[in-house]
Amino acid sequence: MVSYCQMIKSTEIIDNIFKYDVPLQRYTSFKTGGVAEIFAEPENISELRKVLQFCENEQKRIFIFGNGSNILVDDKGVQGVVIHLGGVDFKKVKRDGKYIFSKAGVKLPRLIRKSASWGLGGLEVLAGIPGTVGGAVKMNAGGKYGNISETISSVTTMTFDGEIKNISRKDIEFTYRGCNLNKQIVIEVEFLLKESGKEEILERMDEIYKEKKRKQPLATFSAGCIFKNTPYFKAGELIEKAGLKGKKVGGAIVSKKHANFIVNTENATSADILKLIKIIKETVKKKYDISLETEIQIW
Ligand SMILES: Cc1cc2nc3c(=O)[nH]c(=O)nc-3n(C[C@H](O)[C@H](O)[C@H](O)COP(=O)(O)OP(=O)(O)OC[C@H]3O[C@@H](n4cnc5c(N)ncnc54)[C@H](O)[C@@H]3O)c2cc1C
Repeated sequence: MVSYCQMIKSTEIIDNIFKYDVPLQRYTSFKTGGVAEIFAEPENISELRKVLQFCENEQKRIFIFGNGSNILVDDKGVQGVVIHLGGVDFKKVKRDGKYIFSKAGVKLPRLIRKSASWGLGGLEVLAGIPGTVGGAVKMNAGGKYGNISETISSVTTMTFDGEIKNISRKDIEFTYRGCNLNKQIVIEVEFLLKESGKEEILERMDEIYKEKKRKQPLATFSAGCIFKNTPYFKAGELIEKAGLKGKKVGGAIVSKKHANFIVNTENATSADILKLIKIIKETVKKKYDISLETEIQIW
């Protein structure tokens, strides 16, 4: 079967989309990780399709990179094409009544502030979460006040063979920190929000952000919570009870503020972080017979 990508006549890849041997350390919130063989920053849908066509023709592995707030990249780097929706076309947001249409490259904090300024509530529960809209959808970002999936009405994606799909919320399976949008790139999200007082939304946003800041080490290099909570226990509580707060490997430390965060305080490598993850998993398994599952994406 001929794929959408193969149908594209032009095989030319625009030079300025591709950069080679790009250190991902610059981009990840952990500030660790090796180089990307190719780092592609398409400006728009048509360039994105060309990048995917290149990947298919050259049999390159595809990695999608949002804001790098939930990714741990191996120190050896990644072989393949890391696609970053950094172009202006992927940073647009517009409103139509109670609906907001946001491109995937929009930063989540910007979207939250914008929706508050329009008097549209629902997204303020995500205050303090870094990342892009695309990454937040893929991870079903959220917390104790709610998840992004609760505000979504549909998602537009491009499959790895270049086909555009518009998928209704009811046809997407959202789980705890994940969803089933596999082998496709989120390019736009339609949110259905509640009309509400602007001041009320801003106040709620501020409360949620302040609570997060009080409990989590937001000012340090991290990737948020390392492990998923288990059905009965919070991962952070298990790690703290196991006596691992402050445990250090190289420059990576289990945060003293929140035990489910590993922070890079002294030029940690990804190997340091991986070793610490292994120690935490083994200790919690040994002490409580509970297997912790990582929430962060390991590349
Ligand atoms: C200080 C801190 C606090 C955090 N607090 C929270 C929190 O409270 N709740 C929470 O849920 N998370 C939290 N996180 C984790 C992180 O912010 C979220 O997971 C966020 O949604 C990741 O978005 P991103 O754009 O950075 O995605 P990335 O980290 O770049 O990518 C994450 C995953 O999404 C995929 N992806 C990215 N963009 C797209 C796209 N356009 N289409 C398809 N797939 C894509 C990637 O391939 C990868 O698998 C926190 C992180 C930090 C650093």
